[in-house]
Amino acid sequence: MTFDVAAIRAQFPGLDDAKDGKPFAYLDTAATAQKPRCVIERMAALLGAEYGTVHRGLYRRAAHTTKLYEDARTTAAKFLNADRGEIVFTGGCTDAMNLVAHAWGRANLKPGDRVLVSGMEHHAGLVSWQTAGFAPEAIPLLDDGSLDLAAYDRLLAQGNVKLVGCVHISNALGTVNPVAELARRAHAAGALFLVDAAQSAPHLPLDVRALDCDFLAFGGHKVYGPTGIGVLYGRRAVLESMPPWRGGGEMIERVSFAGTTFAKPPARFEAGTPPITEAIALATALEWLMALDRAAVQAHEDGIFSYAEERLAAVPGLKRIGTAAHRTGVLSFTLPGAHPADLASVLDMENVAIRAGHHCAQPVMERFGVPATARASVGVYTTRSDVDRLYGGLLTCVRLFG
Ligand code: PMP
Repeated sequence: MTFDVAAIRAQFPGLDDAKDGKPFAYLDTAATAQKPRCVIERMAALLGAEYGTVHRGLYRRAAHTTKLYEDARTTAAKFLNADRGEIVFTGGCTDAMNLVAHAWGRANLKPGDRVLVSGMEHHAGLVSWQTAGFAPEAIPLLDDGSLDLAAYDRLLAQGNVKLVGCVHISNALGTVNPVAELARRAHAAGALFLVDAAQSAPHLPLDVRALDCDFLAFGGHKVYGPTGIGVLYGRRAVLESMPPWRGGGEMIERVSFAGTTFAKPPARFEAGTPPITEAIALATALEWLMALDRAAVQAHEDGIFSYAEERLAAVPGLKRIGTAAHRTGVLSFTLPGAHPADLASVLDMENVAIRAGHHCAQPVMERFGVPATARASVGVYTTRSDVDRLYGGLLTCVRLFG
């Protein structure tokens, strides 16, 4: 099946933002993805003629939104090859990771128990543990930005590891981690395994059974859906063993001043009025993504990524950070004499949007001895022409700063 990028782009009004005759080259999809028209229209309808609450109304409209909300859970389950009872809607990917650290961590970790996370975690996968009162240890990185698997084995062999967390695709390096193999080794050592799929969910088909992970988190806005919504997959038995994190709303069974009992998962973890419209519109985004030929999407994005690598290699002096054998989606780089923010500003004048900073992965910056990097990232709608515009803008930067 061929992949028609022009037909895809026509569905994204956010890409249509020319300035001074220069088309908009949006190369910041790793931060947040533009939205297809079907998601925008779904949100508008849900906030308009279809608006209502969930779970507590006895009238027709509330029954309608409740059905859509619960159907959205079924869609998210299909997206991950999970059961719908294993899908918890959260406020985002960060919120999902915090739920694991706070609810599972506090109930299961005793003094002396250890948590390992990759040295390329997004802060969501590190600070969540720290704010819950734990001090995760880093699985170190090799110079190419891949995980040091021998060090991982040594850390596991030291014993008492109860959970390992790892990004599937690094948002700072583009490294694709062998999460199924990492999960296998974690399980052999008696630890659970958490996948941060924030960057992989839009790019790769995900199957929690094949990955054999215990938790997997992703957010709506990077999979072409709304902000304010995320998904936590938790293996049924693990979710059932966990206490709630936040209290209120429909997460209860029976409440009294003498004591409260809690609903079964997933309701146990969805306190308060949930992000109703966001969850339903997320399902629209996931249906949209699943209706595409996912292999063709992946081939397209990988093709654009390789092309961008070639172009960046031709920019004099440019240094890439993140050259692991298995990498995709995200290109981090620096240019001597220029702060990454200067590069982003010059490119912005060309109407090319990239990200500059630490990408919420400060330990990665420290590992590679840079304060920040410039980062271009690829989405389903990215074209070679976007990459050519990046290349042209970077040549201007070389002239200005070189
Ligand atoms: N993990 C990774 C790998 C990410 O790239 C991001 C977003 N940059 C997050 C977690 C957090 O996602 P959110 O900010 O949407 O909660």
